[in-house]
Amino acid sequence: MSKIQALRGMNDLLPTESPLWQYLEAAVADVLGRYGYREIRFPIVESTDLFKRAIGEVTDVVEKEMYTFNDRNEESITLRPEGTAGCVRACEENGLLYNQVQRLWYQGPMFRYEKPQKGRLRQFHQIGIEAFGMAGPDIDAELLLLTARLWRDLGLLKHVRLEINNLGTPEARAEYRTALVAYLSGVMDQLDADSQRRLSTNPLRILDSKHPATRALLQGAPKLSDYLPEQNRNHFARLQAILNHVGLAFTVNPYLVRGLDYYSDTVFEWVTDDLGAQGTVCAGGRYDGLVAQLGGRPTPAVGCAMGVERLVLLLQTAAQVPEGIIDDIDAVFIVLGDFMPQAQALAEQLRDELPLLRLTLYTEAGSLKNQLKRADKSSARIALILGEAEFNRQILVVKHLRQEQAQVEVAFAAAPALIDQWLTQD
Ligand code: ATP
Ligand code: MG
Repeated sequence: MSKIQALRGMNDLLPTESPLWQYLEAAVADVLGRYGYREIRFPIVESTDLFKRAIGEVTDVVEKEMYTFNDRNEESITLRPEGTAGCVRACEENGLLYNQVQRLWYQGPMFRYEKPQKGRLRQFHQIGIEAFGMAGPDIDAELLLLTARLWRDLGLLKHVRLEINNLGTPEARAEYRTALVAYLSGVMDQLDADSQRRLSTNPLRILDSKHPATRALLQGAPKLSDYLPEQNRNHFARLQAILNHVGLAFTVNPYLVRGLDYYSDTVFEWVTDDLGAQGTVCAGGRYDGLVAQLGGRPTPAVGCAMGVERLVLLLQTAAQVPEGIIDDIDAVFIVLGDFMPQAQALAEQLRDELPLLRLTLYTEAGSLKNQLKRADKSSARIALILGEAEFNRQILVVKHLRQEQAQVEVAFAAAPALIDQWLTQD
């Protein structure tokens, strides 16, 4: 029979890879906790209208990338392509936004029907951060400082750079869009095909075209910054002043726009040059209009999302991941002969007394030689051996697997102390 394979662009995360993910996730949870952000979880599937209304009908995500289907009740539902819409829906539905400030985060899979390639998948994972109820640039700055601290903790700060921009209000952007379209229509035939298409759908996205000819044309285009209302100009200046004061380096990228319609005012991206074309590892901005757009009371908000796969790739290529991260066990317990019940009891005692000990009891019988070979291939540093001779004398043999060191015999009662000593000495 033929085997059924995973869907394209939907990866398995193997046990050899998961420790690095856990390392990253633990670092993120630690930093977020230190800034007072709390985790929220909401469904992976929502009604299709939620995403259409939040992300915008004429965006790449809604037009081409959503996994949308009817459930058995003929209701149109969609696998979430991003987290902000669901987060706002959940907050509103549970009354978290009424007269309150919220600092929240979430993590999990997102789904977009894209062309799979390095750093671009159909099921990918994001860690999202959202802050509600704060209108000033201080909270924008906090998000940037928080993410910068995370990169520092992970040893990635030297490998990423921060780009910021301000998109103004939706009204100002509409005015700018008209001017941009007028200019680009005049040079339509010189634009790349993608940009030609975007001219009638989402012209602002042309600003972040990678196409050299299009980029050259953009030099002469009207500037979004000339259309910014006073209020956004101030907000942007104050944000920059905070970042300068704290000493967080950034560049203003006037061509930085985001692919989702809900963004306004501050937008930003953390970008790396180490991953090729898929270089944005974290992106976000303000979305002051979204809560009201989804039926809530107007609520200022800012958020961002990190691409976990891209960060893991970056950790693998650029960072010094601390040794021992991918070590999953410290010790193995090898049982010879008919002593499995006794070995189980001893292993339980060891786990009681040494809560940090990661111990695998080899439950399949085999020769001592074969079991030691297996232990050698694992990350275990010591092997505990129990056979008939040992049991009769109520002792364990403790053998170091990584150092030239004579094996020792230890009474059951003294085993925890010895194991602890051996494992902490190196
Ligand atoms: P890109 O321009 O790279 O397609 P985007 O603007 O679509 O990104 P967002 O919707 O802002 O991305 O998502 C935030 C982050 O999630 C991205 O910066 C990226 O790190 C990650 N991401 C987005 N789409 C994918 C994907 N298909 N596969 C892997 N990671 C992704
Ligand atoms: Mg995209």
